[in-house]
Amino acid sequence: MNEPSQQPQISESSQAQQGRVTRMLLQWLMRSARVAAVETLSPHFQLIELQGEALRGVAWTAGQKIQVAMGAGLSARTYTPMSWDAGKGRTRLLAFSHGDGPGSRWASGLRDGDTCQFFGPRRSLELAGLVAPVVLFGDETSFGLAASLRQTLRASDTLHMFEATDVAESRQVLDAVSLGEARLIARSADDAHLATVEAELLRLAANGAQFVLIGKASSIQRISRALKAASVASSRIKAKAYWAPGKSGLD
Ligand SMILES: Cc1cc2nc3c(=O)[nH]c(=O)nc-3n(C[C@H](O)[C@H](O)[C@H](O)COP(=O)(O)OP(=O)(O)OC[C@H]3O[C@@H](n4cnc5c(N)ncnc54)[C@H](O)[C@@H]3O)c2cc1C
Repeated sequence: MNEPSQQPQISESSQAQQGRVTRMLLQWLMRSARVAAVETLSPHFQLIELQGEALRGVAWTAGQKIQVAMGAGLSARTYTPMSWDAGKGRTRLLAFSHGDGPGSRWASGLRDGDTCQFFGPRRSLELAGLVAPVVLFGDETSFGLAASLRQTLRASDTLHMFEATDVAESRQVLDAVSLGEARLIARSADDAHLATVEAELLRLAANGAQFVLIGKASSIQRISRALKAASVASSRIKAKAYWAPGKSGLD
């Protein structure tokens, strides 16, 4: 490796130019959309409809992700389309603004008519071939994905179970997106609530269910481990961490 003094020197103007070129390339690769509607379903949840020419004719399947650019830089935050109307060039996202990260600020500050850029849709969780009965375990970040599966799986074929920080608020949001029958379990500080989740999921495993696990990384790992220990084949478990404490923009 070169010593610092031997490394090629890049002038500030050349760095700025590289930054401009990178941004131009990204603009070219990203889709532009306008916020056609944004509905605040509760203090922490926004239902966002994006629309644009670049969204027309796009092939999308439930479980895919988009990565929304945050400001003019290179950072992005990931969201899951709830639906995609390729004819009209429209997609809908359900964003949970947990706190003060760029994604939370973006979602909670959006107004009709704002514009945004994003990558995707791209592969994330491969859900083709999912066969009923399905058990979906997640959290506030997974409501959008659960709603998107409604188009392919009947309500009677799927059991939804979510851990949530504010159960009353989450109930209100789930009702608004036609997932009112979902089970909600209040998070406890020491994750003791996961024992209840585990017990219930193991009971359902006996019925031959397939499992979709999404949301907080440590919860998914724990549930996935418990299912495998109970001899549930890996092929019956589809898992994807959406966030982890202390990690920004996990993906
Ligand atoms: C494939 C994929 C699809 C996703 N789809 C959705 C979606 O449809 N809707 C949605 O709301 N989110 C979704 N997420 C999750 C979302 O991208 C993250 O929660 C993201 O971290 C939010 O960005 P932020 O800038 O607000 O926080 P960040 O700056 O990324 O994170 C700052 C800190 O906040 C904490 N944090 C992050 N997320 C959460 C959370 N949910 N709850 C509590 N604390 C948190 C962590 O400690 C983190 O270190 C998805 C993630 C992935 C990987």
